Amino acid sequence: MQTRVIQLKLSVLNRGKTQRLETMQQAFTDAVRFHLDTAYTLPKPSVSSLHAACYRTARDRFPLPASIIQQARDKALAIYRGMQTRKRQGKKTSRPRLERALPLRIAVENLRVFPDKRMARLSTPDGFVWLPLIIPDVWRALCALPHAVSELVRRGTDWYLMLTVKSEEVPAPDGPHFGLDLGVANVALLSGPAVVRFFDGKPLRSLRGRFFRYRQALQQKRKLGMVKRSQGKESRWATQMNHQVSREIVDIVAANGGRLHVETLLGIRDRVKMTRKVNRMVHSWPFAQLLDFITYKAALAGVQVSEEDPRYTSQRCSRCGHTARKNRQAQAAFRCVACGYALHADLNAARNLAAKGACSSGVGAVTAPLNGEVL
Ligand SMILES: [Zn+2]
Repeated sequence: MQTRVIQLKLSVLNRGKTQRLETMQQAFTDAVRFHLDTAYTLPKPSVSSLHAACYRTARDRFPLPASIIQQARDKALAIYRGMQTRKRQGKKTSRPRLERALPLRIAVENLRVFPDKRMARLSTPDGFVWLPLIIPDVWRALCALPHAVSELVRRGTDWYLMLTVKSEEVPAPDGPHFGLDLGVANVALLSGPAVVRFFDGKPLRSLRGRFFRYRQALQQKRKLGMVKRSQGKESRWATQMNHQVSREIVDIVAANGGRLHVETLLGIRDRVKMTRKVNRMVHSWPFAQLLDFITYKAALAGVQVSEEDPRYTSQRCSRCGHTARKNRQAQAAFRCVACGYALHADLNAARNLAAKGACSSGVGAVTAPLNGEVL
């Protein structure tokens, strides 16, 4: 049995549904905080002691189904244990304040997916909420598989269902592994056996800068209608670029019969803190959209995409595995203090993602350095 997470975008929701989801998401976050605060008061918090200490109050206080309260308890316990582990490793810890709403976890029994109707049905204390899903045809069979605990995630004004499905399916034959690093200097960098493709971020940056200055000038003249039109134009331009970049990436991987490993921007994993880079990128829609397009086009092309935890990919040496902050000397330059290997920092990160995907421990490089490589 293997599980995989399918990211499904919800069609535009009406005000009432949006409000119900927001309310539930906030209630879930509050419930996690409540359990977490209680965990800190217990001598040895466990599922059963936390349950005993919290369940009754939580049921009264938070308008959530019982099974989602249990999810909140488990999430809080995972955060608590993560903090304890960090403490044992001598790292700095502070109790997470959970200021931003967490992804809403949905227990198995509270969700039903109807792939043919392109709908998901969510149980709430005051009845069902029907959520319209955008499901590409090729994913319909996948969405019909039995599912596990899934999440509802909001990005800007869009909502996504991160549907975790369980399948018996035999893993795809081991094609070459490709890593994709997303960034600012390079919008994207694709790395695989004998393939390195940079997607330069300069045109995007300079165009955004130009649009920004243009709008500033318009704003001073109070031409607000034109400001709006200019915003639309910029986002259409970025969308078109994302279409081109995603097309090219998927084509390269498909032509090699490979698999693609990307970094998780949002995930089902119990991550207490995301990396700063990821935090920044989650809030920038062009990146989220680029990943959307890649996922979608990859599904159509039969390319398997998996999301990898991006932590330490920028500090780890893709040749010897040595991980140290000192390895990263400048924004663009990576030089391993253990083995002396030097290469472009984004390329190093992309290779680490591919290595993580190839084996879950992430040990060892899967991409042999190119001959005489100078980057
Ligand atoms: Zn090294």
